Amino acid sequence: MARNFFIGGNFKLNGSKDSIKEIVGRLNDAQLDPNAEVVLCPPAPYLGYTVDLSKKPQVSVGAQNAYVKASGAFTGENSVDQVKDVGGKWVIIGHSERRQYFKEDDQLIAEKTAFAVGQGVGVILCIGETLEEKKAGTTLQVVEKQLEAVLQKVNDWSKVVVAYEPVWAIGTGLAATADDAQNIHHSIREFLAKKLGEKAASEIRILYGGSANGKNASSFKGKADVDGFLVGGASLKPEFVDIINSRL
Ligand code: PGA
Repeated sequence: MARNFFIGGNFKLNGSKDSIKEIVGRLNDAQLDPNAEVVLCPPAPYLGYTVDLSKKPQVSVGAQNAYVKASGAFTGENSVDQVKDVGGKWVIIGHSERRQYFKEDDQLIAEKTAFAVGQGVGVILCIGETLEEKKAGTTLQVVEKQLEAVLQKVNDWSKVVVAYEPVWAIGTGLAATADDAQNIHHSIREFLAKKLGEKAASEIRILYGGSANGKNASSFKGKADVDGFLVGGASLKPEFVDIINSRL
């Protein structure tokens, strides 16, 4: 079945009003692949600002994290309801930097995913192995365990996009090869099919993330289970447009 090409831009903790205006302005002015769905994820203080700047219907906005409550005494957290209130539609959950630096475990990530989906917000769910796990040959076990935690809490995956992001590829300039990504994405889809059924699994977008850039993006073209990218560093640069248009 046809899955819409999906490109997330994860700005991480980068940006200013000026730089975000420039990034969004570039997308507003560019000819973008009409079949590409683009989600910009700026730091939380700039969510509403990014929504207001964006002029293209195919471009929407998401947060980089959100908590398991909509409101209350949770100082410092983000709420998916507030993301929606300022016009955001998505949230990244389970990014490896959240797992590593903020000690988010599979359980919390599953709860966050379930809460966001329940509130009607799309989730870009990040999974992926470390270099040690890759060397030990446990990549599939690792990503299946990460997915299994979410499967325990979420039945309806129609609002979930999976981002396979090997930790060793993030920010290193060492992207996975398109063939390796395809093999792992295919195994992820087979695993999801066992759990959710063939039809539901065939509709889930599986993105590749980790040093995707304007040069390597087109090498993933034609890989049947690579449905797009989650882009960090390159989403801040003009080459983001080349990634969005990499299937043309
Ligand atoms: P990168 O980051 O593209 O800078 O490697 C990807 C990500 O962390 O989502």
